[in-house]
Amino acid sequence: MRLILLGPPGAGKGTQAKLMEKDYRIPQISTGDILREAVTAGSTLGVLANSFMRKGSLVPDEVVIEVIKERLARPEYARGYLLDGFPRTLAQAEALDRALGLAGSRIELVLSLVVDEEELVQRLAGRRVCERCTEVFHLSFRPPRATGLCDRCGGPLVQREDDREETIRRRLQVYKSETAPLIDYYRQRGKLREVSATGDPDAVKGRIDQVLRGSFGL
Ligand SMILES: [Zn+2]
Repeated sequence: MRLILLGPPGAGKGTQAKLMEKDYRIPQISTGDILREAVTAGSTLGVLANSFMRKGSLVPDEVVIEVIKERLARPEYARGYLLDGFPRTLAQAEALDRALGLAGSRIELVLSLVVDEEELVQRLAGRRVCERCTEVFHLSFRPPRATGLCDRCGGPLVQREDDREETIRRRLQVYKSETAPLIDYYRQRGKLREVSATGDPDAVKGRIDQVLRGSFGL
């Protein structure tokens, strides 16, 4: 199973990736994580990637692709993997297909989590983070015992800039305009499966299982 998982911020992508990793025993590959690992390991690519990250600029596609290629060649990914957070743009999707094609491999399926914008705003805007210990709460789903205070350390709970409604709407807009061409690209190749990510994580996982069973004959 060689999969890509797409989804807007707040769709529960991370949660689903973890559940799938456990159930199907396919490792999840998060671009952010492997870039940081390459930097820590001090590999040639890591040093190169770090030269961009240090300046706060985006690591160019060619470098990211090389890091991913190096990773996918390892034996632990022979049974498959789940790419999370990559590709983000059409150019990256094309570069990934070229790189995999050269290695005699290909992406089999792209799962795109779909959630109504208002539900996403509600999910994200309710988040509160402890300023002191970074524990995460939610006004509706995980309210703190004392209003505005962390259950764990008593520190003040704040709303991060990223979780403000205007910021969320802007991020969703960016996600939509960035991924629309990507979604078309995979749809045209018959690889796209859209899954409703409304409701609780177990329900979403059930829908994903159904798609995977249908596609891989599990
Ligand atoms: Zn705290």
